[in-house]
Amino acid sequence: MEENKDASLLVIVLDTNPSQRIIREKPHNLTQCLDSIVAFANAHLMQKAQTSWLQFLYPTPGKPLDIRQVDGQYEVFTLVEKTIKQKLAHMINTAPPLTTPTESLLAGSMSMALCYIARINRNKVPGTKINSRVLVVTGSNECASQYMTYMNVFFTAQKQGVVIDVCALDKALSLLQQGCDITGGQYLRLEQLEGFLQYLLWVFLPDPQMRCKLVLPPPVKVDYRAACFCHRELIDIGYVCSVCLSIFCKFSPICTTCHTVFKAPAPIAAKPKKKKLKT
Ligand SMILES: [Zn+2]
Ligand SMILES: [Zn+2]
Repeated sequence: MEENKDASLLVIVLDTNPSQRIIREKPHNLTQCLDSIVAFANAHLMQKAQTSWLQFLYPTPGKPLDIRQVDGQYEVFTLVEKTIKQKLAHMINTAPPLTTPTESLLAGSMSMALCYIARINRNKVPGTKINSRVLVVTGSNECASQYMTYMNVFFTAQKQGVVIDVCALDKALSLLQQGCDITGGQYLRLEQLEGFLQYLLWVFLPDPQMRCKLVLPPPVKVDYRAACFCHRELIDIGYVCSVCLSIFCKFSPICTTCHTVFKAPAPIAAKPKKKKLKT
């Protein structure tokens, strides 16, 4: 048998923002989540034991969200767990107290995950192939204010062949769902935390290449609406700048993104509505 030189790189982005409903209502949920994630990460390591790194990235002070990149050796499960818990506790203890709910910097952490993957790829042994993916676990609401960053992340990931998986623990996340769809990842929304680890192991442990052989939750219909750049709200119909492709819900004579000046549109002549064909 040919020796398989492929390696898998899994970066887990766990949203620890205390403003999340699931953490606000029951802080213990975070511990439960974390235990499941550690078990999941170890299961992933068990599949492909390899010399690798264990690493944490810290957010800059003031940001409520952390991103962690966990990878380790088969022999060091305990080390993985201890390091994660210790660093997370340290991060939570040193984070400035939140007075108002803050949005999670998910798009930012995903960019950092992509940077990390790019670095690993640059330093890999020639001839090896690394299948990389990012798993985002969050109970936050989606913030359309990060729309641009999200889109940049999704298309960069697509270009680099990085799969984005998302496990939504509270609300449905339509932007992240688009990201999963664009990169060929799996989107899963859990209504409750029971069985979280089982879901992780079932849906997210197998490599994306193996998933076609498994019976997974049926794909949900992806909401491909875009957010307008002026109010960051998802819109059905809008104006698009012909120069930079920014999207606006209302006509504006100057594009706020690229400052192109447009002529006011001629009033649209009232067209008789096309009659729908009855079938
Ligand atoms: Zn708008
Ligand atoms: Zn523009």
